[in-house]
Amino acid sequence: MLYGALEAGGTKMVVAVINEKGDILERASFPTETPEKTMPILIQWFSDRKPDALGIGTFGPADLDETSPTYGCITSTPKLAWRDYNILGTFKEALNIPIGFDTDVNAAALGEASFGCMQGLSDGIYITIGTGVGVGVLSNGKLLHGMLHPEAGHILLSMNPNDHFEGNCPYHHTCFEGLAAGPALEKRYGKSARELADVPEVWELEAEYIAKALVNYIMILSPKKIVLGGGVMHQEQLFPIIRKKTLEFLNGYINTKEIGSIDQYIVPPTLNDNQGILGCAKLAELAVKR
Ligand code: ADP
Ligand code: ZN
Repeated sequence: MLYGALEAGGTKMVVAVINEKGDILERASFPTETPEKTMPILIQWFSDRKPDALGIGTFGPADLDETSPTYGCITSTPKLAWRDYNILGTFKEALNIPIGFDTDVNAAALGEASFGCMQGLSDGIYITIGTGVGVGVLSNGKLLHGMLHPEAGHILLSMNPNDHFEGNCPYHHTCFEGLAAGPALEKRYGKSARELADVPEVWELEAEYIAKALVNYIMILSPKKIVLGGGVMHQEQLFPIIRKKTLEFLNGYINTKEIGSIDQYIVPPTLNDNQGILGCAKLAELAVKR
């Protein structure tokens, strides 16, 4: 079997063909322009390589409900050209192969669960902190969808009393994403996140918000592992501070073996930023099995 994989992002589309073992045989990347410009390029790329199935992990929000008339559509995205666009339907019509469809972050969670540090686990979460904040959730061995799919980057957090930033989310101002995604850091401090690498206070506050979010996820989803990826998490000094603050905020209330090994519980991705694309290949495999 040869699997096609598409990580559909707001700025770029990453495509790959991947074998059953998870070897990436070929990959490419194209800018995300309008559907009219971008889709024919992607369809041609896959048509030329003839995969047996395709897996799509998309930016969103997207309709993942197979019983819905708008299943496979990107819905209320701020990228207006893609709003209500039927990305799944267009690929189905053009390629005529089984296609799996999920969010980009659920695909990344599935990638880590299939090939990386969440292998063998029934429950775990993958969080990206980059241009936005997204959370993919593996729960009881399945990717969590629910009514739509989790939008756990938009949970409301209590603010540090000394932080007077108005927040950067147009919907909620001071949700997790509005306080802690890369653009929020840039707006709060007037510098790129990378340029702030040597300012400890920045990462203390950032770790505080991340740890508060993790405590909420731990309490609600009971994950057995938490993977933190995305551009902002390239600031590796965040990890020890996040682990320490998470334990502080939990305050001894949860005493599992996982929490007892916090260094193995809150971890960076293990697949070299291939977790998303590998998860898409797994979505393709699952589509064939279905
Ligand atoms: P995307 O979210 O678009 O998929 P990324 O996860 O790379 O892409 O996130 C991009 C954001 O991450 C940028 O807004 C930038 O602020 C931040 N970022 C990227 N690299 C770094 C870095 N080395 N240190 C801190 N922040 C970074
Ligand atoms: Zn928000």
